[in-house]
Amino acid sequence: MATQNGEAKRDAPTGTVTSRMDRRWSVMSDRPESRGLTVLGAHNDNHRALPIDARIHVAGHRGLVGGAIWRHLQQRGHTALIGWSSAELDLRDRDAVFAGYEQKRPQVVVLAAARVGGILANSTYPADFLSDNLRIQVNVIDAAARFGVERLLFLGSSCIYPKMAPQPITEEYLLTGPLEPTNDAYAIAKIAGILHVQAMRRQHGMRFVSAMPTNLYGPGDNFNPETSHVLPAMIRRFHEAKVMGMPSVTLWGTGRPQREFLHVDDLARACIVILEGYDDRAPLNVGTGKDVTIRELAEAVADVVGYTGDMKWDTSKPDGTPRKLLDVTRVKALGWKPQIELKDGIRKTYEWFRKGS
Ligand code: NDP
Repeated sequence: MATQNGEAKRDAPTGTVTSRMDRRWSVMSDRPESRGLTVLGAHNDNHRALPIDARIHVAGHRGLVGGAIWRHLQQRGHTALIGWSSAELDLRDRDAVFAGYEQKRPQVVVLAAARVGGILANSTYPADFLSDNLRIQVNVIDAAARFGVERLLFLGSSCIYPKMAPQPITEEYLLTGPLEPTNDAYAIAKIAGILHVQAMRRQHGMRFVSAMPTNLYGPGDNFNPETSHVLPAMIRRFHEAKVMGMPSVTLWGTGRPQREFLHVDDLARACIVILEGYDDRAPLNVGTGKDVTIRELAEAVADVVGYTGDMKWDTSKPDGTPRKLLDVTRVKALGWKPQIELKDGIRKTYEWFRKGS
């Protein structure tokens, strides 16, 4: 296990809570809310910085999102980060998750572990996407409540919104229409996670919140052609076409769908802002508020990679949702805004890819 334990004792016996932070933060069960007396979202410790020695479990800390959050917390000087790889602790295993939480007693949880993939993986393995993600979420959220985690951030995805939601999509459009069928199983699991977070707040007064990031990219991305998302898939395709001197690259669909892309380092900053300053049942959209067509994205990637051949579009392949742009008014009201422009972000991601390829 990767831990940075600071004051937190590695093998605290059952029931023993050891960090200085516990004396500064009240335990959740002492809140009037958990006895059913206070209105949701009315916590009085909003906008409190995460103590530097808080025991923070970043679930999925080796992935794109979890890795960026982990790096960001390290840069801020956090001394008690907790991270298990899936080989060390399979979060689908309920007993193992409860044992891990009993031993390590995290105080803050970022739930960025999930089975994640693009259209191909989602439409080929819908049962796995549904089952794995439901189990991961239920186990972590239940264990967090059982062991008194003080703040939890659940990460969903913008695919939870209806396929034909009006644009830009506000948080209120959740559960107002049919989902995009290619990833409906994954989306249903994520929607269940949002409702689980809301139910924990209502029933137990937990300070649990959820955030819905738009399409993400950045260092640590998945470039596997079978499972990758559109942006890393394009980086790989154009890079290989350049290296192999291919005269053209064929891409899926018409190139007309519009998508929004957020650099994962921007998301990591947003996650901290949310953990510190947001306490409400409604999920929070996190994106740039700007979108590009897939064709524009392809042109930007080809330019960064230096591919000068032709681009062809296989229109027999599905386009997916025509447009997906998040309304990010609410997260921006917390004082966060994205800092990395798309082309710069693609450049950094391509540099990272080249180092590993
Ligand atoms: P990655 O595939 O990069 O990382 C997923 C992480 O989850 C890995 O660290 C993996 O651990 C861990 N994990 C998967 N299954 C298990 C398991 N059974 N037990 C323990 N750990 C497990 O995904 P992302 O970082 O891209 O996604 C993270 C979250 O962000 C997801 O909830 C996703 O929905 C959300 N999100 C992602 C977007 C994107 O564009 N990538 C867009 C919007 C939301 P290990 O490496 O040890 O196997």
